[in-house]
Amino acid sequence: MFGAMQEQPLLISRLIEFAARNHADAEIVSRRVEGDLHRYTYRDAAARSRQVANALDRLDLPAASRVGTLAWNGYRHFELYFGVSGSARVLHTINPRLSPEQVVWIINDAQDAVLCFDLTFLPIIEAVATECPTVKRWVLMADADRLPATTSIPALIDYESWIAGERTEYTWPEFDERTAAALCYTSGTTGNPKGVLYSHRSTVLHAYAGAMPDAMNLSSRDSVLPVVPMFHVNAWGIPYVAAMVGVKLVFPGAALDGKSLHHLIETEGVTMAAGVPTVWLGLLNHIDSVQGGFATMRRTVIGGSACPRAMIERFRALGVTVLHAWGMTEMSPLGTLSTLKGKHLVAPESEQLALMEKQGRAIFGVEMKIIDDAGRELPWDGKATGDLLVRGPWIVSRYFRDAGGDPLVDGWFPTGDVATIDPDGFMQITDRSKDVIKSGGEWISSIDIENIAMGHPAVAMAACIGVSHPKWDERPLLVVVRKPATEVTAEALLEFYRGKVAKWQVPDDVVFVDAIPLGATGKMQKIKLREQFRDYVLPN
Ligand code: AMP
Repeated sequence: MFGAMQEQPLLISRLIEFAARNHADAEIVSRRVEGDLHRYTYRDAAARSRQVANALDRLDLPAASRVGTLAWNGYRHFELYFGVSGSARVLHTINPRLSPEQVVWIINDAQDAVLCFDLTFLPIIEAVATECPTVKRWVLMADADRLPATTSIPALIDYESWIAGERTEYTWPEFDERTAAALCYTSGTTGNPKGVLYSHRSTVLHAYAGAMPDAMNLSSRDSVLPVVPMFHVNAWGIPYVAAMVGVKLVFPGAALDGKSLHHLIETEGVTMAAGVPTVWLGLLNHIDSVQGGFATMRRTVIGGSACPRAMIERFRALGVTVLHAWGMTEMSPLGTLSTLKGKHLVAPESEQLALMEKQGRAIFGVEMKIIDDAGRELPWDGKATGDLLVRGPWIVSRYFRDAGGDPLVDGWFPTGDVATIDPDGFMQITDRSKDVIKSGGEWISSIDIENIAMGHPAVAMAACIGVSHPKWDERPLLVVVRKPATEVTAEALLEFYRGKVAKWQVPDDVVFVDAIPLGATGKMQKIKLREQFRDYVLPN
């Protein structure tokens, strides 16, 4: 027997309409690329999202067409989140920190039909537009006066002219909640990045979960600053959560330095901010240099890479509670957050800090388990370490275009992380089984870096490993075996990367060795290399 309740698909368009109806005057403030502050309300955002949907209809874009974005966190990007997905197209957010070649590859793999980009990225688009044959409309996310006088970009229009003539009314289509809503590419440790295709259902459920008190705990009484980018895993789902609860939104645009962020936090009454450790390092350094503090900020969600204990303590001294969070592109991304339970509130501070240092407890909807090499499940005793597997309604089941084949093992997604789980359910990542190098919250594929080195005539073998770095968490170090009777310097090898990858993906240094340790199947044993170079000091 079925229950007798109304069937209503969980659609993203409902989020923005709910906000327009129930939180019409709640504010959305954006630092624009142009430098000034823009402010409007959810009522305005909803109206302009409907204009976006009408503009897409005018292009005769069929359902499921991909609309790419190359943009910072800001109000126009927010409108696209709802206008694109709400009208049954797929929002494809692209990481602008990738090299132009990688951006082109991703646009072509996704077959984007429209591409919207911020003024900052005009030079990249000028360089690559002609290599993206599927894009039939390029939209500069600015006013008409910012359009270049001459351009090689075909069919270029500015965002404001694009939507200006469109009606602010729109009848959002009704469709199956499992319909694709957004696409985000993950690193993929072997070869090219893979797309993760979120659905309306997964996105709305993830937003419910993300708003809960033991998760990000966002409400209409908060003012939230998502520093975590909207171009990577939907800014941890914050735009959707925001519309769901009517929180005041403060978008930082491209100004991610400590001084600019602090200014925004103080002037906009920010109560909660979310970002990767590297960004917060800049903020804390600024606070120290001006001996400043936070008048309203009380919480910050930190994830993407491990948050060091010193950072949790520094924030604590400033009256800010750190919520350490863990997730993945494949998980929409929220998996765990480290919020204390009632019984921990009376625990000694050192015990509380030890818990906060862990990656945290699962939110309802995410199931976790750790297994040993034989696939046996390990106990939740806080000691046993094993491969971490997850499953749930906002976790990937297969990649876009089935890239890489079936990623699941008996219905579970292997995260590639190695972890412990304690009896209270707090998970802690002890190691990373993949070799991707995390620099400032962004990924660098070690294989890409190695492949380029292997293209040099003097290189016999190359391994790229992450070496810890005080500012960027990790930076790549290239370990090279030279071919016999050849000469090549570290400088020459680094120069070899110019124009092949983004500048920040170039290794910080090169060391030459006689041999790289190989495993039984001929694979490089990077774990051994990492041990060998653990204390290696990178040049400044
Ligand atoms: P991405 O899909 O690019 O967001 O990367 C996901 C990966 O980042 C995870 O599998 C972890 O290896 C790593 N990660 C994310 N959050 C944390 C965290 N809080 N601590 C340690 N590693 C993390």
